[in-house]
Amino acid sequence: QTEYCILAIGHSARDTLYMLKNRGINLTKKTFAVGFRIEHKQEYINECQYGKNYSKLLPPAEYKINVRTKQKRGVFTFCMCPGGVVVPASSEQGYLAINGMSYNKRNLENANSAVLVNVEPSDLEEDVMSGIEFQRKIEKKAFELGGGKYKAPVQLATDYIKGIKTTKLLDVKPSYSIGYTLTDLNGILPPILNESLKEGLVQLNKKINNFSKKGAILTGVESRSSSPVRINRDKDSFNCNIKGLIPCGEGAGYAGGIMTAAVDGIKCAEKVMEDIKNAI
Ligand SMILES: Cc1cc2nc3c(=O)[nH]c(=O)nc-3n(C[C@H](O)[C@H](O)[C@H](O)COP(=O)(O)OP(=O)(O)OC[C@H]3O[C@@H](n4cnc5c(N)ncnc54)[C@H](O)[C@@H]3O)c2cc1C
Repeated sequence: QTEYCILAIGHSARDTLYMLKNRGINLTKKTFAVGFRIEHKQEYINECQYGKNYSKLLPPAEYKINVRTKQKRGVFTFCMCPGGVVVPASSEQGYLAINGMSYNKRNLENANSAVLVNVEPSDLEEDVMSGIEFQRKIEKKAFELGGGKYKAPVQLATDYIKGIKTTKLLDVKPSYSIGYTLTDLNGILPPILNESLKEGLVQLNKKINNFSKKGAILTGVESRSSSPVRINRDKDSFNCNIKGLIPCGEGAGYAGGIMTAAVDGIKCAEKVMEDIKNAI
């Protein structure tokens, strides 16, 4: 028994989100984003960002770029990992999700970043859990395209844009350690998102030279950049529709990264302290 419970379960605790919905906790759909990881040679990104004769004393270069497509969709890079790796992030058997990270030294061969397109609540079915089911659907397709055993489906970005299966990679080799299958990623996302992502990738070439050309590769599927649902909470007390139950952080839809999740945790703890103080 407790009077307060701060629920900071992350955005992959699908079992708990379903349990909450089935027990009458109010949830709403929210905008989230899906797409792929794009990888380049870090050296190439350094040259694009610093110039061909850049000083080796400079840190591995980063980027954060975005465009708006004709269909008025945001296509953007997220969580760019200089000198990093693409990593598995699946949380359910038979479903494939990937993410990216850099080790402290940021000294590995490839740079990677998520390249994402927004998914609006209106793209999905009425049900509040339709975003989670949509994530599952694309993760299942990615698992199958990867050939099973959590190998990832990989394609040259140029082939993805043209809609042809990749049979041979160029200079960039996938950093995903479990293994990969060369394929055509076009079957994963629904047409509206797929077309927007392709248009966005072409437009991004104006921001970074040859961003989606030459040897750049895509690995699928990046589906967990943000939560597709929000657990509703009162803006003053932070309670959801049960007193004392306080949804918190990314999984509850109030954060989008390490810092914002940490700050939301502090804010939730302050609300509990305030409530205890007022009760004395
Ligand atoms: C590979 C990777 C790289 C990332 N890199 C960055 C980055 O560079 N910068 C950035 O800002 N963000 C990054 N993120 C995102 C960042 O990790 C999250 O935004 C952040 O951790 C969210 O914090 P949170 O506390 O809301 O949830 P989480 O950190 O996901 O914590 C939720 C916790 O709840 C636990 N849990 C869930 N259900 C239960 C249960 N039923 N019982 C007990 N425990 C449970 C989980 O095991 C987990 O420990 C990255 C994520 C990944 C996967």
